[in-house]
Amino acid sequence: MDNTSYIEISKKAYKSNIRFLKKVVGDNVKISSVVKGNAYGHGFEQMIPLAEENGINHFSVFSAGEAKQVFKYASKSSEIMIFGFINNQQLEWVISNDIEFYIYDLPSVENAVKTAKYLNKKAKIHIEFETGFKRTGIEPDEFDSLILYLHENSDNFEIKGMCTHFAGAESIANYVRVKNQLILFKKYHKYFLKNNIVAEYLHTSSSSATLIYPETRFNMVRVGIAQYGFWPTPEVLILRNNKYGDKESSLKRVISWKSGIMAIKRIKKSEFVGYGNSFQAAKDMSVAIIPVGYNNGYSRSLSNRGHVLIHGRRCDVLGVVTMNTITVNITDVKNAANGDEVILIGNHNKNKISVASFSEMSNYLNYQILARLPIDIPRFVVE
Ligand SMILES: *Cc1c(COP(=O)(O)O)cnc(C)c1O
Repeated sequence: MDNTSYIEISKKAYKSNIRFLKKVVGDNVKISSVVKGNAYGHGFEQMIPLAEENGINHFSVFSAGEAKQVFKYASKSSEIMIFGFINNQQLEWVISNDIEFYIYDLPSVENAVKTAKYLNKKAKIHIEFETGFKRTGIEPDEFDSLILYLHENSDNFEIKGMCTHFAGAESIANYVRVKNQLILFKKYHKYFLKNNIVAEYLHTSSSSATLIYPETRFNMVRVGIAQYGFWPTPEVLILRNNKYGDKESSLKRVISWKSGIMAIKRIKKSEFVGYGNSFQAAKDMSVAIIPVGYNNGYSRSLSNRGHVLIHGRRCDVLGVVTMNTITVNITDVKNAANGDEVILIGNHNKNKISVASFSEMSNYLNYQILARLPIDIPRFVVE
């Protein structure tokens, strides 16, 4: 193996998460597996067949480039949905391969129909409503033109869905905003229905809303981070458990990221460790150098804050994360030696390193660190 670290994907954890999520949403709600960002760093190649083994047959990505990756690994019977960006060159590939996509303003609809006509195909579209997130989405003053346009070109469209995205269902602080978005979504859907525009699926929920707001599920949910075993925020875990009486997390981490000790060194009291003066030893200590730095996906923001597990013990990251290494405190680890396993993300018996290992402090860091795990780290599916 040429890489300085590797990733393991747990089949058992994923299976357990999908079983839990299916129980949460029930039989009548389809789960679209959100696999943008190389399946949140877990790997398209590993995750897509695994998801299909567990009964998933719908995948969501942000861009046409990601859709091409998913297409490569998915079975022909699975559906792929793009909720973000497609350029004009890619649109032809998208429509000719029956990839579903969002239309989110009038130009995006016009482009779709032009290409669909040229290909003599039906474009499989999801109509995205602007309900308050203020990213993309059709605005109410465009509804009548859109409805007219859809009727005039009905030979070239198949309306797979109507949808919207909440502005942060993972935090109770956004509750009023999310509730208002839901009210608007229902109102807009009704208006389209009254004008004979009917969609197969209605979908608004990402992991957070799926887990804590049943009324947002309709007949499809777009689940990203939860399927990989992470709670969007600690708040969602607490809300979920309070509401449903669960005692602990029902989600299991799918990913483990591991490396090994490269070198060990003694540090004397008052010596500095690493670049500059960001860490000074308060007593004599032992440290280990690990060959993983920000160039290998270990975020620089974990300087003096991250932890790793060695022999099951939590070891603090000392000083700044460099391009290719971190230095960790192994003073309390007995018999550590070069080559010993280092867990950067994952579990060792009861001890657990969440992605950042300080996810409680920074809610969004899990998403960021996962999505930035470099593509060239080897990934293995394990039982
Ligand atoms: C990322 C994303 C999701 C999934 O979000 P999670 O919090 O990871 O479940 C769903 N829908 C859209 C539009 C997204 O961008």
